[in-house]
Amino acid sequence: MDLASYADLAIELVNTQDRAGDALRDLDGLHALLARRPHLNGRIGHRDLDTVRGLRAQLRAVFVAASGGDEDEAIERLNSLLIQHPIHPQLARHQDHGWHMRLNEAGSVPDRYAARAAMGLAVKVAEHGIDRLGVCRADGCGRVFFDTTASRSRRYCSDRCAGRPNGMVTALAHRNTVTRDGGQ
Ligand SMILES: [Zn+2]
Repeated sequence: MDLASYADLAIELVNTQDRAGDALRDLDGLHALLARRPHLNGRIGHRDLDTVRGLRAQLRAVFVAASGGDEDEAIERLNSLLIQHPIHPQLARHQDHGWHMRLNEAGSVPDRYAARAAMGLAVKVAEHGIDRLGVCRADGCGRVFFDTTASRSRRYCSDRCAGRPNGMVTALAHRNTVTRDGGQ
């Protein structure tokens, strides 16, 4: 059970709203978000959509606070999510592998999503630091990311945003870093 991997749930959810619009306008959008997550299967309705949209706002606020340098607020918000949405670990037997830990798959889809996303993000923050959470600096983008650069200098969600005129200087610095690493 790799709890840190669940941080992706937080990032994917927040990034359903960006320059391109809101992918969670309707239930189809929520189905699409959950489609690749077998442990988040279950019946969902409009109330769940509202709940997940609310969770999205709470998670975004964590990234915004961290990205703005307000670490205390970011941690407080994340801790509050951990209290609201506890995880429920269970021992389960896996064929040939004996007993292993997994998260209980009972409860509503939004609850399970929230518990995993908050715990995943918290584990990542504990391992790497709250300053790793970033919000794209490109005008009107707003996508969030987990900064894995050695220099903790990531500013943009993507090369596309890094190439926008308002961020040209930093974008060039970012590109140089990428080139040095052999990425381009
Ligand atoms: Zn961006």
